Amino acid sequence: MIVGIVGGGQLARMMLLESYSLGLRFVTLDPSADACAGHVGELIQAPYDNEDALRQLAGKVDVVTFEFENVPDTSVHVLSEQLPVYPPPEALGFSQDRMAEKNLFTELGIPTPSYLPVDSLPELEGAAFELGMPLILKTRRLGYDGKGQYRINARQDILTAWEALGGVPLIAEQYIAFDREISIIAVRGQSGETRYYPVPENTHRNGILHLSVCRPGDPRQADAESYIDRLLDRLNYVGVLTLELFEHEGRLLANEIAPRVHNSGHWTIEGSQTSQFENHVRAITGLPLGSTAAKGCSVMVNFIGNLPDRVETLALFETISFHAYGKEPRPGRKVGHGTINTVDAESLEAMIPELSRIALSASEAMTSSPLVATARK
Ligand code: ATP
Ligand code: MG
Repeated sequence: MIVGIVGGGQLARMMLLESYSLGLRFVTLDPSADACAGHVGELIQAPYDNEDALRQLAGKVDVVTFEFENVPDTSVHVLSEQLPVYPPPEALGFSQDRMAEKNLFTELGIPTPSYLPVDSLPELEGAAFELGMPLILKTRRLGYDGKGQYRINARQDILTAWEALGGVPLIAEQYIAFDREISIIAVRGQSGETRYYPVPENTHRNGILHLSVCRPGDPRQADAESYIDRLLDRLNYVGVLTLELFEHEGRLLANEIAPRVHNSGHWTIEGSQTSQFENHVRAITGLPLGSTAAKGCSVMVNFIGNLPDRVETLALFETISFHAYGKEPRPGRKVGHGTINTVDAESLEAMIPELSRIALSASEAMTSSPLVATARK
């Protein structure tokens, strides 16, 4: 069986690497000739809306999936006319528009921060009055890694926020001073069989995921599962689905969904019986799902902008799994990650500060390098 993936970045690359041993083959589509999934499998280099390339992809594979949600509607349409497409296009549609996504949470009784659509300055003023401040103004479409967001703390920020983001459809959300962020990753097969990974706790820096720490037995696991179950059923979902959640005053609030494998699930490669990548591929190809049980505790750290020194990192942590995606260093870009597993939570806690430091110092060195300053001009 041959699997097509729209998008040839690190998520596609890890789907390939994690599923080759099942005897599957892959073809990815990406506009960049250097897309890193192309280093490990066949790549069609073309824009996502190139209908000839989409037909070429459809002609080569048995099933198609996506590594990102912002796939143009017409591309999804061209593909789904010719072969099975998972996850269902309807799920992509919800995740592409924050307003539709929040309305879906509301329809399913999943708590979410209060929100209002904003299409004009008077509407933003009205939203600030109704929701109170602080609030977060977000573009409804095309945001990622915290891009397209503006935090409004007080009245004097309203005009600046409008000037920064106005002109496209927006959503204003109540700002939640959460206690922590978690995410639930579930996988649903073609027969409706569903499995859930233990939830990791996620820490962001500058709007980008920094650490995911999984300690099985999280007190919010059952609540998170019940919320993602409603989404999986409503969307008649096939594949991996992620739900990002805030924990606030003892309850969970849904932030957003990602209809795909997720950065907060990278720890599953070494930390669980079957990784999120393999289980996604199993689901879309109709294979039985693998166990999602954790082998112990795990911490994953993202390498942003630049990789830490490989020799130093491997020498420092003899049990680290070092993942370099084969991408050129660039500020803010996800270029790799590292995962460490331990049998107990205490040994894990002891390693987190040093692991975090190594990753942050590599990315800070990148941001302050004179080479980068020149390249940016
Ligand atoms: P990503 O691609 O990393 O998932 P994104 O650009 O799609 O991010 P969000 O997930 O909506 O955007 O927001 C990024 C981060 O900003 C969240 O993980 C959270 O830390 C913070 N954030 C977003 N919305 C709120 C909110 N209403 N209250 C408090 N913090 C928020
Ligand atoms: Mg998010």
